[in-house]
Amino acid sequence: MFDSLSDRLTGVFDRLRGRGALNEQDVREAMREVRIALLEADVALPVAREFINKVTEQAVGQQVLKSVTPGQQVVKIVNDELVAMLGGEDAVGLELEAKPPVVIMMVGLQGSGKTTSTAKLGRLIREKHGKKAMMASLDVNRPAAQEQLAVLGQQVDVATLPIVAGQQPVDIARRAMESAKLQAADVLLLDTAGRLHVDEALMAEMKAVASVAAPTEVLLVVDSLTGQDAVNVAQSFSGEIDLTGVILTRMDGDARGGAALSMRAVTGKPIKFAGTGEKLDAIEPFHPSRVANRILG
Ligand code: GDP
Repeated sequence: MFDSLSDRLTGVFDRLRGRGALNEQDVREAMREVRIALLEADVALPVAREFINKVTEQAVGQQVLKSVTPGQQVVKIVNDELVAMLGGEDAVGLELEAKPPVVIMMVGLQGSGKTTSTAKLGRLIREKHGKKAMMASLDVNRPAAQEQLAVLGQQVDVATLPIVAGQQPVDIARRAMESAKLQAADVLLLDTAGRLHVDEALMAEMKAVASVAAPTEVLLVVDSLTGQDAVNVAQSFSGEIDLTGVILTRMDGDARGGAALSMRAVTGKPIKFAGTGEKLDAIEPFHPSRVANRILG
């Protein structure tokens, strides 16, 4: 992952190495190439522009430290700015301390990996947090979506709400809340319906569910392989609902990194997890500093 961006940046910085001091022209030339590398990695244009401005401002006129080369100095500035752009030093975990059942609502487009991520989180909450989780699918649009979650639930040993044919999403959400209380579940995961595209019906349904379920977490699931589309999806959702975080799926694929880099700037919310495969344990906390390291190679 991130190979192209990493290779491009390494090339840029190798050329800076060996310079005696950083002058403005060196920095501007390097930044032109960094900008192209970012755009080729699918970073949204305004995000790339802001990034370049910040790095240039810091790099130009910096005192050259005796212990490092100018190239290394710029690499450090770029690294720090990448970490900031990805959301800061540390991974941000789930907010599970609210009054139980804590509701986690999963939103996103069809095919983004929402149902799989729901089951992955169910497993994580049971195994890593030692809490009792319950899951319910509110997807009445896609045939067999509710059955899919039930099957995954068995695989990760997390209970799913029994399916009642013909029930609508808001009513399923109410029934799920009651059931979670009766069974003393700590956490209730709601897998909402996706659509092929962002549309009004999807947004209206999502808001109606949120108003009855009062979720502590609203996590947007986006496919990192879809690049700029992922960024557009994030922008649409965050304009309609108060997201609390993002899950980027298919980070095991050859995503060029742009979606990850743009996501925080576009939503203002942390990327909490990265999906790293089809298996139900293939989910990792998203560590901005590790991802920045990987980008810089
Ligand atoms: P939904 O329509 O958003 O609920 O999407 P699904 O959860 O059904 O996922 C669609 C496909 O993507 C399935 O085949 C999943 O196994 C696969 N998938 C989900 N997350 C990941 C991931 O992080 N990596 C990979 N390689 N595949 C994933």
